[in-house]
Amino acid sequence: MASNVCCDGTFFQGDPLDGNVCVLKDLAKEYVKEELKLDDNYMNEQFNICYCRVCHKERGDRESYSRGKPPMTYAIPVGWCRFGLKLYTPLEDSFECYYRAYHGTQPNRVGDVLRTGQLCMPGDVLYTGKELKELFGHYGENYGPKGFDYKRVFVSPSIVYSGYYASPHNWKHYKVQTSFQVLVKPDTFQKMPETIGATAAIDKLFSNNELEWATNIHHAVVLYGLLIKISTHGTYQKEIDQRKKILTR
Ligand SMILES: [Zn+2]
Repeated sequence: MASNVCCDGTFFQGDPLDGNVCVLKDLAKEYVKEELKLDDNYMNEQFNICYCRVCHKERGDRESYSRGKPPMTYAIPVGWCRFGLKLYTPLEDSFECYYRAYHGTQPNRVGDVLRTGQLCMPGDVLYTGKELKELFGHYGENYGPKGFDYKRVFVSPSIVYSGYYASPHNWKHYKVQTSFQVLVKPDTFQKMPETIGATAAIDKLFSNNELEWATNIHHAVVLYGLLIKISTHGTYQKEIDQRKKILTR
């Protein structure tokens, strides 16, 4: 048992990211199995990897690498645990030719996205027969700049920025956030500025002007990982307080 975990499984200080032993991997696995109840048919354990600070440091990984042609920054999702997904869309090129990006989501939407097999855009009809509407707070028919084309799939190269869209789920003593990790085909998307009204840099790895990638081509974005982040309420609140410092609204 990790040194910062009490006998009943609760943390008596800090959170999974602060200890000296990885506890995120097991907690995240339990969350995926017990709470999300995802069918094994969607999963590909070959891509499972824990990016908590302990595991990340033990591997000696960097914060970022380059991927795609021409190369662009691949920001490692430090602090998250990845569960590999089977590729629903056949790749048109080798894995390494694709860029890496993220799509923050709500835990209760994860199952629907996996059943659909891809990220959808407003107006798409889902496997349930229902039409996808833009989420509250997202640009759409009645909100956002005039003429903004919101009927696209939006992803971000930044896991930090995607975290803003990963609304947490209260589970046990924790806040759980989910995000998809995706492959993005080069030359299929438009880079756009962030849309949350930041007044300072959101992610040191990227300019605020290129935090949104938008495409209207479904198969340009391929799901390949489900990311789970687990924090104590206190640590999550600190993150929210930190965010408020760079937001104007
Ligand atoms: Zn770990």
